[in-house]
Amino acid sequence: MSRIDVMRPWLGQEEADAVNEVLASGWVAQGPRVARFEAEFAQAQQVPYAVATSSCTTALHLALVVAGVGAGDEVVVPSFSFVATTNAPTYVGAHPVFADVDAATGNLTAATVEAVLTPRTRAVIAVDQGGVPVDLDAIRAVTDPRGIVVIEDAACGAGATYRGRPVGAGAEITAWSFHPRKVITTGEGGMLTTPHEDWAARARRLREHAMSVSAADRHASVLAPAEEYLEVGYNYRMTDLQAAVGLVQLGRLPQILARRRQIAARYSAAFEAVPGLRPVADPAWGTSSFQSYWVEVGEQFPVDRDGLLAHLAGDEISARRGIMAAHRQPAHAGVEHGPLPVTERLTDSTLILPVFHVMTDEQQDRVIRSIRDAAGL
Ligand SMILES: *Cc1c(COP(=O)(O)O)cnc(C)c1O
Repeated sequence: MSRIDVMRPWLGQEEADAVNEVLASGWVAQGPRVARFEAEFAQAQQVPYAVATSSCTTALHLALVVAGVGAGDEVVVPSFSFVATTNAPTYVGAHPVFADVDAATGNLTAATVEAVLTPRTRAVIAVDQGGVPVDLDAIRAVTDPRGIVVIEDAACGAGATYRGRPVGAGAEITAWSFHPRKVITTGEGGMLTTPHEDWAARARRLREHAMSVSAADRHASVLAPAEEYLEVGYNYRMTDLQAAVGLVQLGRLPQILARRRQIAARYSAAFEAVPGLRPVADPAWGTSSFQSYWVEVGEQFPVDRDGLLAHLAGDEISARRGIMAAHRQPAHAGVEHGPLPVTERLTDSTLILPVFHVMTDEQQDRVIRSIRDAAGL
């Protein structure tokens, strides 16, 4: 029996050809491919400006800087997220403040955010967890009047929609990931998108040591203009090798998305007949990318979450424990917080099932059969 992975990126000859073309060009660092990837990504996501970065984590860092978040500020985050969401505020000397999430979506809500606001709250990082769109407008109805900026963490959100548009299209600033575990990949990589021209320009500078002239522009002229370093910047650049892969992947996004949603629908139909399993679903206000297809293992199911994970592993199926809770990690043990009952329930009782573009129906049937087995059906 061959092993079924929880995720496999869909990469082919087109990506290999694109990388070879970059190698042959002799320009492998941030250059014309990055610029093209930014332009095409901005167009696809219906946002005016896109700035490519080395990861979503570095995009989140830059988003906080350009949004003016700094030392002593409070930033509301879901504990129920990959740890980078909580780490980012600490990079600018701000304090993460944990808010609970909604059980149906795994996302922050206007109510959970409002419950933890203080006069020191400067920003909220709202995650599209596992690709489920967060109800951004509802949160902004609470935060906008208070001058609190909402940063959307759409690491898992490529292809997800919110009120008929791509997620991030209605946000002040959004961070994206192209890690292989996400919907499209560049190996490592990220993007920052925003409608604010000045924020985009500053992020573009900060990712490149805050140089007044980009390396690509200096290269374009024989007598390179003298550059100045306008503030303390970073090296958060994407390479043209990565961007070349990203351009091909972006072209594949509609197909990847259609296949992921088809697999998710097939799981959900199969699990209707399985008592005690609650699958993640599209919310009323949008559609998920199903970057993570998770199920909550309830009391009526014969085994608990870890029991089901072990059962699947016995059938050579690699599932994963659900989304982590940052407040339980040693790195953030010092962060004071109120009760987070839904976060703790979901992190303890959910698991993520295999979904990837090249997954076959036979592979999916094996996963479904294994779960029905565990359910005693
Ligand atoms: C994966 C992920 C990140 C980090 O993305 P990288 O590109 O690996 O830095 C941040 N936030 C969320 C919600 C994620 O799932």
